[in-house]
Amino acid sequence: MSAAETEISGTFKGLKLTNTLTRQKEDFRAIDDGNVRLYVCGPTVYDFAHIGNARPVVVFDVLFRLLRHLYGAEQVTYVRNITDVDDKINARALRDYPDLPLNEAIGKVTKKTADQFHKDIKSLGVLEPTQEPRATQHIGGMVEMIKVLIGKGNAYVAGGEVLFDTASMPDYGGLSKRKLDEQKAGARIAVEEHKKSPGDFVLWKISSDDEPGWDSPWGRGRPGWHIECSVMSEHHLGKVFDIHGGGLDLIFPHHENEIAQSRCAHGTEVMANFWLHNGFLQVEGRKMSKSEGNFFTIQELLETDSFGGRQWPGEVLRLAMLMTNYREPIDFSMRKLEEAENLLAKWPEPIDTDVVPDSEVVELLSDDLNSSAAIQALHALAVEATKNPEKLALYSATASLLGVAPVVADLSGIDETAIQSAVQSRLEALKNKNWAEADRIRDDLSSQGIQLKDSKDSETGERLTTWEVKK
Ligand code: AMP
Ligand code: ZN
Repeated sequence: MSAAETEISGTFKGLKLTNTLTRQKEDFRAIDDGNVRLYVCGPTVYDFAHIGNARPVVVFDVLFRLLRHLYGAEQVTYVRNITDVDDKINARALRDYPDLPLNEAIGKVTKKTADQFHKDIKSLGVLEPTQEPRATQHIGGMVEMIKVLIGKGNAYVAGGEVLFDTASMPDYGGLSKRKLDEQKAGARIAVEEHKKSPGDFVLWKISSDDEPGWDSPWGRGRPGWHIECSVMSEHHLGKVFDIHGGGLDLIFPHHENEIAQSRCAHGTEVMANFWLHNGFLQVEGRKMSKSEGNFFTIQELLETDSFGGRQWPGEVLRLAMLMTNYREPIDFSMRKLEEAENLLAKWPEPIDTDVVPDSEVVELLSDDLNSSAAIQALHALAVEATKNPEKLALYSATASLLGVAPVVADLSGIDETAIQSAVQSRLEALKNKNWAEADRIRDDLSSQGIQLKDSKDSETGERLTTWEVKK
């Protein structure tokens, strides 16, 4: 590889980012200003995403928008993958589709989950990344990278697995600042017999007949999680790229191991120059997670009454998220969402415009994505724009840099007769105590952006239903 591919030639454009590699806020310069390259680890598609999973998606969407503003929309390549090989997916497929052949069942789980993920994050105002590779499309590349690692003495075959040999990399642990010795000392993890060191991790594992698998020199098997991102990022962004992002929990082991694989396979000093990590979205001080059971899915928040007895529009969820800077924890609460909603209610409907966004907001975002201060400055612009229509364009362009603005209902495509007849059918269903059907109709209308309000006629006591288009 020529040095020109990895040497930083870009100029400083005012962007400073906290780099987990150095734990410092550093001036960002791209390797190549003509192609700024960002990779973010995407979802493992076995279950609906919760609002904590949405945080990296929203945070890095703001970074993507900012980079497009600073470098030009065509000059930024953003890759966010989909992990569609994982033992959690297999387990879900067996549980949900026990009668189907495994491959088909897996296909159903991953399709349903990925479709829902796309729908969810679209509601959160997230732009599509430039590329969205899936792990299953890159198995061949993974086999090739593993061969290289074995050839270079960085990996070995043992116990039906190919393992990365952490001891073969003198500076393993540089991102998380963990030393191999410390891991040994704290060897609470039982050392599996076949591993040379307890920290050695799986690159490839052999599949049994009832597990999904691909042919490889080591037998029919499947890749480990970390190798997926090393291969997909190289394929789209090259051996060394500019920024790699994800949530704080990915620093170790996932990102540490991505770095180990990529650097050893390619013989490079770094995998990405900047590593960015968002803090956790928490509930009562604890990370929101599937395993804690303290989660709300994005879909539940958008379309059901499970949080605070009401639905929450996507733009409220997004604004609430960005009111806290990305490295800090967020306590997820009704108060926070209401605060965001109240702010949005004071903002005018944005207009289409090609003016440049406000320079103060650009500067605030360029300071390690200070989105909380950027929103305050945007609020001041919004208030001005309500008084002075000449300021509407500047406010609109700036709101679009953050991807936040009130969504004003578009009534043009609405078929009022069809809605009225659905409302009537629901009233019938309620009368017949067919609650499931009534709920189905309400959810169906909700997914079309129609919100129902039930009340009683004060004189007759008869049930009345009105509808409105969700803001
Ligand atoms: P997972 O599906 O667990 O691999 O998570 C997908 C992404 O969401 C990763 O970047 C995680 O770091 C991130 N993530 C998971 N839970 C949270 C949380 N509670 N707050 C913020 N980010 C999270
Ligand atoms: Zn990854």
